[in-house]
Amino acid sequence: MNKRVLVKFSGEALAGENGYGIDTKILEYIAHEIKELVDNNVEVGIVIGGGNIVRGVTAAADGVIKRTSGDYMGMLATVVNGIAMQEALEHIGVSARLQTAIKMEQIAEPYIVRRAKRHLEKGRVVIFSAGTGNPFFTTDTAATLRASEVEATILIKATKVDGVYDKDPAKFEDAVKLDTISYDEALKDHIKVMDDTAIALAKDNGLPIVVANMNKKGNLLNIINGDYSQCSVVK
Ligand code: UDP
Repeated sequence: MNKRVLVKFSGEALAGENGYGIDTKILEYIAHEIKELVDNNVEVGIVIGGGNIVRGVTAAADGVIKRTSGDYMGMLATVVNGIAMQEALEHIGVSARLQTAIKMEQIAEPYIVRRAKRHLEKGRVVIFSAGTGNPFFTTDTAATLRASEVEATILIKATKVDGVYDKDPAKFEDAVKLDTISYDEALKDHIKVMDDTAIALAKDNGLPIVVANMNKKGNLLNIINGDYSQCSVVK
């Protein structure tokens, strides 16, 4: 059994059908999925992206805003999502702590690994926000980094798809889901599980990445219990 896990949600996932901002219905759904883990004595860390609000590359696309500033805007977006997630969890009685990689102590605790681990041991969900605190990285890399630091046994990348396919299932009818993929295969161009920095870090630390469909109710708990049928594992 995986006692300590880190779950990564993209910012876009929170936007629901609006395509932008935060859909509280989705937030509630995620909070319930996380509660199920906590109720089963799983220690849960969460990283949420910021793509529903701003992404550095997009913000800097026309050159008016510098990439580094765009990235800081993106990191702040993950804090916005983190505050919302913390509220949604506490709304249903799950104790949660938001930590930020960039200090903003009126809003949340600064990221301190020892403190994060202590919260996890006490059954509190820890939300790691503001990415790695550095421009030019992604929240996928932040998730891999935090998972490694708090010694999570797996990193679950919550997506809209059942796993990783050999080709785009939206374009090709004969696309086949891959149950297991090696880190080296995932680093190949045509399989975009996560960015290369995140995969390389996971490989270095022997951290398995489980790509799973977050819209299948109960899937997170199934994975914790060792049922990997609705996902792909990069290891
Ligand atoms: N970001 C960053 N450093 C980090 C993590 C994130 O600069 O360590 C910025 C980057 O601009 C990124 C944005 O925050 O585009 C939002 O994160 P991401 O795109 O990973 O979110 P997601 O795609 O998961 O919603």
